[in-house]
This record gives sequence, C-alpha cells and structure tokens, in this order.
Amino acid sequence: PRLDAEGLLDGLNPQQRAAVVHIGAPLLVVAGAGSGKTRVLAHRIAYLLAARGVRPGEILAITFTNKAAAEMRERVGALVGPRARAMWVSTFHSACVRILRSEAKRLGYGSSFSIYDAADAQRLITLVTRDLDLDPKRHPARGLAAQISNLKNELIDWEAARDRASSHQERTLAEVYAAYQQRLAQANALDFDDLIMMTVNLLQAFPDVAEHYRRRFRHVLVDEYQDTNHAQYVLVRELVGQPAHADADADVPGPGAAADAAVSTVTWASGAVPPAELCVVGDADQSIYAFRGANIRNIVEFEEDFPDAAVILLEQNYRSTQTILSAANAVIARNNQRKAKRLWSDAGDGEKIVGFVADNEHDEAAFVAEEVDRLTDAGLARPADVAVFYRTNAQSRVFEEIFVRVGLPYRVVGGVRFYERREIRDLLAYLRVLANPNDTVNLRRILNVPRRGIGDRAEAALAGFAEVERIGFAAALERVGEVPGIATRSAKAVREFAALLAELRAIEADGPVAVVEAVLERTGYLSELLAEDTVEAQGRVENLQELVGVVQEFTERNPQGTLAEFLEQVSLVADADQVPTDDGSDGVVTLMTLHSAKGLEFPVVFLTGLEDGVFPHLRTLGDPTQLEEERRLAYVGVTRARSRLYLTRSVVRSAWGQPAYNPPSRFLGEVPDALVDWRRLVEAAPEPAARPWGGSGGSGPGGFGSGGFGSGSAGQGAGRAGGGSAPARKPLPNSPFAGRGRPSARPVLELRQGDRVTHDSFGLGVVVATGGVGDSAEATIDFGADAGTKRLLLRYAPVEKL
Ligand code: ATP
Ligand code: MG
Repeated sequence: PRLDAEGLLDGLNPQQRAAVVHIGAPLLVVAGAGSGKTRVLAHRIAYLLAARGVRPGEILAITFTNKAAAEMRERVGALVGPRARAMWVSTFHSACVRILRSEAKRLGYGSSFSIYDAADAQRLITLVTRDLDLDPKRHPARGLAAQISNLKNELIDWEAARDRASSHQERTLAEVYAAYQQRLAQANALDFDDLIMMTVNLLQAFPDVAEHYRRRFRHVLVDEYQDTNHAQYVLVRELVGQPAHADADADVPGPGAAADAAVSTVTWASGAVPPAELCVVGDADQSIYAFRGANIRNIVEFEEDFPDAAVILLEQNYRSTQTILSAANAVIARNNQRKAKRLWSDAGDGEKIVGFVADNEHDEAAFVAEEVDRLTDAGLARPADVAVFYRTNAQSRVFEEIFVRVGLPYRVVGGVRFYERREIRDLLAYLRVLANPNDTVNLRRILNVPRRGIGDRAEAALAGFAEVERIGFAAALERVGEVPGIATRSAKAVREFAALLAELRAIEADGPVAVVEAVLERTGYLSELLAEDTVEAQGRVENLQELVGVVQEFTERNPQGTLAEFLEQVSLVADADQVPTDDGSDGVVTLMTLHSAKGLEFPVVFLTGLEDGVFPHLRTLGDPTQLEEERRLAYVGVTRARSRLYLTRSVVRSAWGQPAYNPPSRFLGEVPDALVDWRRLVEAAPEPAARPWGGSGGSGPGGFGSGGFGSGSAGQGAGRAGGGSAPARKPLPNSPFAGRGRPSARPVLELRQGDRVTHDSFGLGVVVATGGVGDSAEATIDFGADAGTKRLLLRYAPVEKL
C-alpha cells in the first residue's frame, strides 16, 4: 500500500481525524464502544509514519491482549505495508519482557530469565509456605499468589509490604512475599506481575535507562486505557517522561488547552529528553477488570495526571445498528457512577433484538445451535460471523456438547475447553482411579492433589518399589511400609491416601453422584478452592459444580448407570478429535466469556445466561459497585454485535446437579421492550412458597449462599408483584453438600397417561407418556400449539395435576 497521508484521513470523521493528526501534548480519546477508537490508533500510527516522518522504531503501541496486538499489527500493516514490522505493537507484558531482556543485569537478573505463569508461581509459593511451616489449609498458595499479585499491581514490593503490615495475616503475607521473591531471584525467574513492576523499578532507578527508552519511543499509544492498573499507569508515565513543569511545580497549571503548542512552551531540564507523545484511547463504560486491579481513575483523571492533556470525544458508532446501540445505551444509563454520553449510529435500525426464554440450559444451547443453523442455511451468516457469550467459563460446557452433537464447528476462545480444564481433569482422574485402581497415570496425577505431603521423592520411591517388585503402583501404595527410602511422614500420608481411596470406593455402590460429591468433599479439594476466595478459584468451583451437574444428568438418564459407564460417556465427549473443526472457508462459531470479548466485533452475537445470579454474577448481587461492573460487562457484550443480537435466559439451570430457578437478569429488564422480539417468552417460575408443596422448592444446594458460590437466589421472582424473600439458607460455606437437600418435603408428582396438568410456564397440558420411578420419574406432556410437547423430569418440573 502506498503511504498517502491524505488517504489515511479519508475514512475518518472530523473528531477521529483530529485525534490522528494531533501533535504534542498527551491526548486522550474517550468514546463509547464501536466509535473507532482502535481505528484511530491504527490510523494515527500510519499517519505518524506517512506524514510526520516518524520511524517505525520510534513507536510503541500497547494493546490489551496478544490477539489484539496481532490485529493492530495487521491493521497498520494494511495501511503502511511491511515497515509496520519494526514497530513495537504488543501487550504491556511483552513490551516489558523485551525491555527487561536487554536490561536484566541492572536488576541482578540474567537476560535469559524465565517467566513464571500463574501455575508456576503457585507451585513456588507452595514451596515457600512449606519452608515457613504454614498450614496450607489456612494459607492456600493460590490465595497468597493472588494477594501478592495485587500488591505488585500497586507497585508495593516485599519491603514496603513488610513495613506496612499491621495484622498477623499481613505480616505472614509479607513474609511469604519476601521468601517468594528470593526464590524467584534464585531461579532467575520473574512472574507476570514482576514484568511490569520490575520495568517500573528499572526506569525509576536508572535514569540513563529511562532516558534511553524515552529517546527511543517518541510515540506511546495505549488501547483500552480504562483497564490499566496502577503499575501499568506508572509504567506509561515513566516511559513517556514527565514534562518539566509538572515535576517542578505541580500546582502551576499546564500551558492550557492550546495543547498543540504545549511542547514548545514547556522548558526542559537541561539534557533531559522532552516527553514522548502519548495517545491513549478508552471507554470508562467498558472497564471490566477492576478485580485484577484495573483502575478506572486512570482514564477519569487523565487530565490531572497529564495537566496539559487534550481530550477528544467520539460519538458516532460505526459498528452496530441503532437498535443494538439503543439497547446498550439504555442498559449503561442505569449506572450512576459515570459520565453520560450518547452514541448514535446511522446504520439504520436493522433487525430487532431476538429474545428467548429457554426451559433449561440445554434448551438454551439447542436454541442457539438451531438459530445458527437457520442463519447459515439462509445465507444470512457464516459460522465465523457468530459469537456466543456467557458470564462464566463453566457455561461453555453445554454449548460445547450440543455443538459436538450437531456437528457445528466451534472454538473456545480465551479459555480451555471444558474437559481440558485442570480441576475437571483432577476430578475425573479421581473417578478413573476409583473405577480402575490400575490406572497408574491418573493415580499418580492425584497422588498429591490436593497436597497431602507426598512429594516427588516419595512418588519416585513408590514407583521404584513397584518396578522392582513387579507390582502396580496402586499395590505399591498398599505396601508402603516396605518401600525403602521413604520418609516416615510421607509413608503416613501414603497410608492415609490409600485409606481415603478405599473409603471412596466403598461409596461407589451409592451411585456416581454420591461418589463425585464424596471425592470433592473428603479429599479436601473443594474446601481448598473455597478457602482461596479468589476469582480464579471461584471459576474452578463453578466448573466442578458444572461437572456434578453432568453426573446428575447422566444418572437421571441412566438410573442404574455405573461410574465406569459415566466415565465412558465423558471420554467420548471429551475427546478433542470429536470437536468439529473448520471445514472450509466459513470458519467456526466462537464461544467466549464476556471478559474476553472486549474490543472484538461479530455480525451475530448471542448473549446467554441472562439470569440474576448468573449474569450479573451471584457474587456481585449485593454490592452496588460490583453490579456496576457487571453492567459494564453487559454493555461490552451488547456492543460487540453488528447486526443481530440475541438475548437468552433459562428458567431453570442446574447448579451442583440441583435446579436453580434464577429470576431474569435485571439487565434484560433494562432493554426497552420495543427493541426486542420475544421468540419465546414464558412467565418466570412462581415463588416456591406459592407452590402446593411449599418450602424450599427449586432451591439450590442449601447453605451455599453465604460462601458466595452456588445456584443463585432460588425462585426470587424479579419484576413480579409480591416478591417474597428467598428461602433462608444455612451458612455452610465449606461444605456445599452438607446442607444439600432435595426440594424438601416435595413429593414427586405421580402422573399417568391422559392426566391433565398445569405447568407454571407452559400452561395446560395432557400427559402423553410416563417413565422412570421415584426421583427420576418423568412425563411427556403435550402443552398444545404454543409450547408443544415437553419431556419433563417431575422432580423438578413446576407441574400440578388438575
Ligand atoms: P471498542 O470500544 O469496542 O473497542 P472501538 O471504539 O475501538 O470499539 P473500532 O473497533 O475501532 O471501535 O471500530 C468499530 C468498527 O467501526 C470497526 O469495524 C471500524 O472499522 C469501524 N469504523 C470506525 N470508524 C469508522 C469510520 N469513520 N468509517 C467507517 N467505519 C468506521
Ligand atoms: Mg477498540
């Protein structure tokens, strides 16, 4: 492509153009979704090269993900050609790695330092806690890792953490932090957060290094600025360099709004490099990473941080139809802590938003699959045009299953496929070992998971013994007393582990559900996760919860099914070869969490699981600040759609294998009715209390609410009169199954063919067939033209006999 400066400005509106040609003072572009912020960055870079004689090597552009960096490189490459390769377009982390690789010696590191990911960091912290003799139950490694990460995001090093520690807990944390850093240094390793913090330290401690980079990067550009954390903000400031007047006398206002003249009016300390040009773009309404330390203040107070800053607003959205935008505007307008702004589009109203209320999560997934099928058949979209969003990773499972079944090619972005997730593999490893004691691979996987003091050396001793004796690994466990070279403490742990397996095996006769629950509880796996109390741990708990649901469903379909049969079924679904892949040019459907959708756009978007307790997430329901973040996430989700948006929810969703009747998401109610075409709209399930069987019908696993996990507010009907309170739940945060009950006192309805019934959602119906007994009794009921024929599990279905 030819570098034609004027041509670069052609496809831009006047505000975008102003941002592209702006010279001098720090520039902030704030604007709603889809208004071309990222496009402005790409064009600005190209313009710097084409019109201002900037060399590619003088440009540092920061994006939020590696994927976004690749896209930015591509966009710029399309504008300026291969020269783009010499620019630094990367995430904060990769930019820091590059800087640290060449400067590591200054910090006492070798330039070939390793980078520890979250799992490595946790393992190291485990070693540290062991050294310090800390009880892993009270101080789980993952929790400590999260806290250390928070400190680093705030640029608090271990010494500062030690100095400010005021409680026992904080002192312990500081001690772990110090020992952890020491071990990292010994290993010539840095963790993810170190990358940023160490670079900041480097630039602050070595003025010559700082000057080197300031001379080098004359242009710093940052996308998604609203999600920078404190450390990243300071890093940007250090890279750009402070204007002299801001350092000398912070109270004197900058040279004023005539920003373009700013550079020439500021005097620089002798020999210092004038600050680089900074251009950041962002949208406070899309700040969704507060839980990782992102600080919305960075964008809100940009003008204070950079006193002579220029600000440009963009208001035209080029991505979505007016219908989609109106929905997004209406939702985000409910947030109080924000500056009002209006986005408009001249793309026309386009299609109405499609609303769908599913009976359960499978029905929801089936609707999505059918709809994708319909759109592709009609030539209205290709699979690659479609994205399915959900709030938590665990929700991908149902979609993956149905997509595999109907042969719809898909990929899960920003996450691992459900059955490849660590906690799922851990739990399945237990089940496999219980079903097959000779499964050595899985046995060794769980030998010390959760940690029980059987280290690598003990494992090696056991393996050696098994080999010499020509017995299996499992048999070696039983004969641990004879194993040479095994420490007394480890031997004791092995005996306890063998006893635990025996105990779990004894439960097998009670069926797969009982076994899974027992594994989670008695191994301490679940309580360890719950004790961690981090967002990551919570995601893992949700995945486990989902797996319990899978087992539960299996048992419902196969009342006599064994653990081995269950595992067989899972192996079939979990087999990666089964996942349909792109068969040609039409690409694949994208499944992703809302968090990973930021910055992207798709012609067709399904926003699923719109239920209070799912999205907004249960954890956030009682906290107005967190609810506002959830609403921003909804805004991000809605604004990814270009032409078609689907909003779906499910009346019942299983949680820990129990039905949870979540009320419709409040965000649904915030979308103006006139914008939505309800493909299927059923009334919310009634108050459990109003049902003949009374009590806690439909409640999830009792005693879960206070722990912050679980099935949501059972039956709390939103938007309906009366409103009754949710059934009280016992606080048993560490034992989700302890208080677990069938919807108490509710007898399973007995039905026969020909019986007339009424269903809370589907209305009047006639029983056409029945099957199963007891808890797995089911009925096929014809609800007439509107709702059609449904097969319902009577234990859960809100059905009454007439
Ligand atoms: P988000 O807030 O979601 O990150 P954004 O503000 O970065 O959005 P972009 O992704 O840059 O928005 O742009 C959204 C879409 O609008 C893109 O497809 C982009 O190419 C298009 N677009 C932006 N500005 C214009 C313009 N002036 N003319 C035509 N299309 C435009
Ligand atoms: Mg963008």
